Amino acid sequence: MKNDCVFCAIAEGEIPSFKVYEDDLVLAYLDINPFSEGHTLVIPKEHFTGLLDTPSDVLKEIVVRVQKVAAHLKAALPCDGFNVLQNNGAAAGQTVPHIHFHIVPRRSSDGKIAFTSQEGNMDALAALAARIRM
Ligand code: 5GP
Ligand code: ZN
Repeated sequence: MKNDCVFCAIAEGEIPSFKVYEDDLVLAYLDINPFSEGHTLVIPKEHFTGLLDTPSDVLKEIVVRVQKVAAHLKAALPCDGFNVLQNNGAAAGQTVPHIHFHIVPRRSSDGKIAFTSQEGNMDALAALAARIRM
């Protein structure tokens, strides 16, 4: 393995995968531990760690492929919707440091994904927005 990256090894065919889509720039394949039937990962063939170090021109092309693969999965599988997830950093649950987009097909009966929300405090939200506004 060139750089110890499992997704680079998959892109180079050194590790097998259940391929769903491939072109010059990206590869899409089934997640080995799926959240749902058809859970697919879309990766650039070139190694970048996450959202912040992926060049914006590459990122745009990846997202167009995510749209293409998601549309295909939605048509090909019995699903009512899908989540697109993209984790950055261990704190956010990223376990493979090669940027990837999860496409997770969902059925109406699946329920919400398990982020717990709390009722927002309007004053706190206003202060936070003022602090972080770009
Ligand atoms: P993360 O938690 O980094 O956002 O997601 C990494 C995903 O990659 C996990 O859902 C995990 O199941 C998947 N994964 C890890 N190793 C392999 C592998 O060798 N092959 C495939 N197909 N998926 C993998
Ligand atoms: Zn890599």
